[in-house]
Amino acid sequence: MSVLVYINSNGEKIAKNAFEAVTYSKKIGDVTVVTNGKADDSMLAQLGKYGASKVLVDRSFEGIDEQQITRLVATAAENVGAETIVFSNDLIGKAVAPRLSVKLSAGLVAGATGVPQEDGTIPVNVFSGKAHGFVKVNTDKKIIALLPNSIQPEETGADAAVEEFNGNAGDSRVTVKETKLPEGDIPLPEAELVVSGGRGLKGPENWNLITDLATELGAATACSRPVADSDWRPHHEHVGQTGVAIRPNLYIAAGISGAIQHLAGVNGSKTIVVINTDDEAPFFKAADYGVVGDAFEVLPKLTEAVKKF
Ligand code: FAD
Repeated sequence: MSVLVYINSNGEKIAKNAFEAVTYSKKIGDVTVVTNGKADDSMLAQLGKYGASKVLVDRSFEGIDEQQITRLVATAAENVGAETIVFSNDLIGKAVAPRLSVKLSAGLVAGATGVPQEDGTIPVNVFSGKAHGFVKVNTDKKIIALLPNSIQPEETGADAAVEEFNGNAGDSRVTVKETKLPEGDIPLPEAELVVSGGRGLKGPENWNLITDLATELGAATACSRPVADSDWRPHHEHVGQTGVAIRPNLYIAAGISGAIQHLAGVNGSKTIVVINTDDEAPFFKAADYGVVGDAFEVLPKLTEAVKKF
């Protein structure tokens, strides 16, 4: 089975979810990766360690224009005779996979959490992570968008061959004026540990309680929507139904009530710890561990305890 994986290699390093997508695809068949931009060959060759036999790189355009990427992936799919095309279900994957699905008349499975089973069904997350579903695609070509953090990247092989590729991506109809990278070393969608704060923190002047613990843990920081709406924190930190959906191994929520719209973005977390003064806060129902207490007392103690490790 020939599997094509699109990865975004525009950053300074290849994101963890790209290694996840390649590891995942290796479990399905022979993997070719396609990408665009200026990433150097040695960076791209690393994808071989995770199972890619070959990396095709189109250096004629940088950036994340979804129409150009759709054309690039369609050309590469034809070139390698791909039967399955895999994306990470990140912002680019969510924008490109449906376009490609229409262009190639290929069925799309969005939000996959596991590899196709013997009968071809693919496990997916549905209803914002509240339930598991199984989807079977009936078309010959299949497109899969893999949820980040569903699979551990595994190093199994050696460097891959990197080849220049003309993906006939065409011109972009978008002019990028400025690119701003979010603050922080750990991008929230990729983070394995996340410390998050809500309105219970009372104001932006108290956010050191969140960032101190996050720094000690090596975690990313997040927040509830009203916190971002009030400009206490930047919008890219807002998690939930209308924000980023995350699936870290550990999510610590302090001063967040646990409204259903917030839970929609975090209930795929493997372990949830809730700190709230109100023992009837709805978040406790979704929590693995709960502390009924004042975040202003509990967070500094937790940070001190982590420092001792
Ligand atoms: P609050 O509801 O005000 O809760 C604050 C919590 O802090 C309370 O539980 C309180 O007991 C606790 N607290 C107070 N003081 C302390 C203290 N000292 N120590 C510890 N705990 C304390 N929200 C999102 O987060 N993400 C979304 O994507 C999102 N999308 C939405 C989409 C729609 C269409 C709508 C209608 C709403 C959406 N919301 C979303 C808003 C959501 O409904 C809630 O209003 C919001 O999540 C509440 O944020 P909060 O928990 O920070 O604040």
